[in-house]
Amino acid sequence: MLDSTRIPDSMRAAVIRRERYGEPDGAFLIERVPVPVVGPGQVLLEVMAAGVNYNGIWAARGEPVDVIAARTRRGATETYHTAGSDAAGIVRAVGPGVTRVAIGDEVVVSCGQYPARAGNEAVDAMSTASAEIWGYETNHGAFAEYSLVYEYQCHAKPASLSWEQAACFLLTAATAYHQLRGWPPHVVEAGDPVLIWGGAGGLGSAAIQIVRHFGGLPVAVVSSDARAEYCRQLGAVVLNRRGFGHWGPPPDPREKAAWESWMSEVRRFGIAIWDVLGARRAPRIVLEHPGSDTMATSLYVCASDGMVVTCGATSGYTVSVDVRFLWMRQKRLQGSHFASIAECDALMDLVASRAVKPCLARIFEFDEIGYAHRLMAANDHPPGNVVIRIGLGSHSPHR
Ligand code: NAP
Repeated sequence: MLDSTRIPDSMRAAVIRRERYGEPDGAFLIERVPVPVVGPGQVLLEVMAAGVNYNGIWAARGEPVDVIAARTRRGATETYHTAGSDAAGIVRAVGPGVTRVAIGDEVVVSCGQYPARAGNEAVDAMSTASAEIWGYETNHGAFAEYSLVYEYQCHAKPASLSWEQAACFLLTAATAYHQLRGWPPHVVEAGDPVLIWGGAGGLGSAAIQIVRHFGGLPVAVVSSDARAEYCRQLGAVVLNRRGFGHWGPPPDPREKAAWESWMSEVRRFGIAIWDVLGARRAPRIVLEHPGSDTMATSLYVCASDGMVVTCGATSGYTVSVDVRFLWMRQKRLQGSHFASIAECDALMDLVASRAVKPCLARIFEFDEIGYAHRLMAANDHPPGNVVIRIGLGSHSPHR
């Protein structure tokens, strides 16, 4: 099934090696490596554009997981890692058993891999023991001229989107969709206030639109006026977190002065939510991902019987909370990781119908890949999502 006239033996890939682990600028290097060979159920994709996500930063650092060592322990032989968990491109070869995509199809790739999946798309695929994130836990990700994915990861590219738009949104938007719709009875419904940290980020910009689509009231938190305006344009009311100083864990309640000061600031934050909503209503869902800096606040401001749903920890993995906020008001703290295939399909339908728009912020050339990740790691990237142009004749004008 290989279209061998078009596929070379080797390709350019932005490669991470163990000896280069560190900040993204130095960790990514464009090298020539073999084009991967398709196996059963797999598809070889010619990558046109690839989305930048935190996965690339974690993979570059080799922390919190040394992804290459982890794969080697499971028997892999490649000594390098090609990251990238968002892509749009053209199917160039298909392996045995592939029936739903064909050579020449233009597709958007979702990043959940579930090799032992029984074909039941009603289960939460991310809860299966075999679930892995393509381009992070598995090799041959999006930052290469060709990448290797499973057939079920391929979704038809909406014709209205450019390659760059198509590549920029699925990882974050499907994750936000799973957070907001995947945990009944806490699914966003008409009239529900939803607090969204990082409203101008990848998750946040998608979450605002998804909440709006289901009739909810998105309250976005940001750190600058420009980001605030961006979120307003997407339909959210906005709070600037720079106006508050209590971030991180609450102090020990026995340290009375410190405790009172933290409580007064977190109460002020809660009242600021009422003010922007124009009603004394607490968020029924809090879309959490900064981690250490915000978790205690998320649990405090969440409505009684509401849910804090988390998928990340940008500011730190260790959180300390006053657990009374959780049990006294019967709140729910829910972990959430990427999305099922059915949820990716549902999200793609929202994009195809233009209910959710990709928030493409900036396009980088292939050899700017380390720089693009550095900006994200420093929270210096523009609002929305960032992509790398790969298969479109990409070379940076700056080099
Ligand atoms: P992003 O585009 O960089 O957006 C994150 C936003 O978080 C930033 O715009 C920033 O907004 C805000 N932020 C950063 N530090 C903060 C802090 N200390 N306190 C409060 N807000 C802070 O990143 P993303 O793609 O949305 O991803 C965000 C996180 O989710 C990452 O940790 C990522 O690994 C995780 N994630 C997990 C999954 C999963 O499946 N588990 C999927 C996608 C993402 P302001 O500075 O404007 O407030």
